Order: sequence, then structure tokens, then C-alpha cells
Amino acid sequence: MINLKSSAEIGMMRKSGLVLRDLLLYLEEKIRPGVSTKKLDEFAYDYIKRHGGTPSFLGYGGFPASICTSVDEAVVHGIPGHKRLEEGMIVGIDAGVILNGWQSDAARTFPVGEVSEEKRRLMDVTRESFFEGVKHFKEGGRLGDISEAIQEYNESRGYGVVRDLVGHGIGRKMHEDPAVPNFGVAGHGVKLQRGLVLAIEPMVNMGTWKVITLDDEWTCVTADGKPSAHYENTVALTENGAEILTL
Ligand code: MG
Repeated sequence: MINLKSSAEIGMMRKSGLVLRDLLLYLEEKIRPGVSTKKLDEFAYDYIKRHGGTPSFLGYGGFPASICTSVDEAVVHGIPGHKRLEEGMIVGIDAGVILNGWQSDAARTFPVGEVSEEKRRLMDVTRESFFEGVKHFKEGGRLGDISEAIQEYNESRGYGVVRDLVGHGIGRKMHEDPAVPNFGVAGHGVKLQRGLVLAIEPMVNMGTWKVITLDDEWTCVTADGKPSAHYENTVALTENGAEILTL
């Protein structure tokens, strides 16, 4: 069941989204060679608490941290740990905030120091594909319009679009209907209506789209070991069109 949000409810989600947006900007400043992903998680927990929020990931399905940190071939759901980031790595940071009962969810992939041109391009294309998708988030359209735009943008540049994991509706719960695949067919899927709020999140691999889950039962990695990037925002369809709440 899809829960459409009123403009007052979207206003509440906007406040949650702003805390999350600023958290990701704050974490970006902390990312450098030598910092551990566990340290980044501690920064995130403190930041969210200091701003009156709750980290939605902490304890979700038993997840042990406030953010996911997914390095290089890790696609999503990486668990923060003591391993230190090194020059040339890329790290996906995914986080969720609950503020006054309303959720927001967003992710960025950041370079650690100087990274290769091919990793840079992967991150750029992944981010750009999100905005290609958002162009199609408008009243009268269908969900498949967003999905196909994201898929086409990435695949035409030679990248693999992850199939096993998808975006989602969001509101009082982190994961609501509908599922938002990054692949699909324009003109198909649920109607895009005012009040719909989606977490749109392309997960894009340099090589194959296939992924596997590590023995920690969380970390999702590419099947071929090539790098992957993730970019996500919470986006509301309002009377003024698509509004990105976490940017
Ligand atoms: Mg999400």
C-alpha cells in the first residue's frame, strides 16, 4: 500500500532530510586516508543525536551501526569497522535519520584522496543517473519512467545496474511501497502522484550487475570484484514538482 503524504507531512520529512543532508556534508569533511569507517560511524551517531534525530539504520534488522560504509567493490550495506581508508579508495556512505517520527534516507560515494579516473567517472555517472531519474518523477508519469531513465543512462556508458537491491517509498517507515528499481520499462508501474515520496538510489557497478553477500550477512559486493558506486536521495512529488529533501 502506498502512503501519499500531505504537504504538512512532507514539511516534516524536509526537516529530517536537512539533518541528513548536513550529516553527509559533515562526514565528507572527515573522509581522508587513515580514518577508519568505525570512526566515521561514531561521528555520524554523535551528529544525528546532537541534532535531535535517531539513526534509523542502528539496529534495523540487527544492523550494528548508524551508517553503512561500502568501500570499492562493496555495493551497499558495508559494516563500519577498524580498517582504515586508504588513498585511492572510494567509499559509499549511506545513512538514515528519523526526526519527529519522519524518516529520510540518502547516500553518497566519496573519493578517499586522489582516485583513478575510472573510479571518478563511475561516481559521476552514478550521481548523474539519479538526476536523470528525477527528471521523470512528475505527475502523470509512471514509476518505470524513472527506472528506465536510470538504467539507460548507466548501461549506455558500459556499467552494470544492480538488480537485487532497489529504492523504495519512505515516510514514517524507512521502507514503504513502492519498490523503486533502477531498471525497468517506461510507461509501466505505479502512477506518479502528488504526495509520493521515494528514496531513489542507483547502485552502479563498473563491471557486471551481479552481486553477492559476504559472510557477515550484510556487505553486498560485486560478483567480479570491480568497484561500485551508490547515490541516493529522498525525493517528494509536490505541487511544485519533484523536491529533493536530502540535498
Ligand atoms: Mg534507501
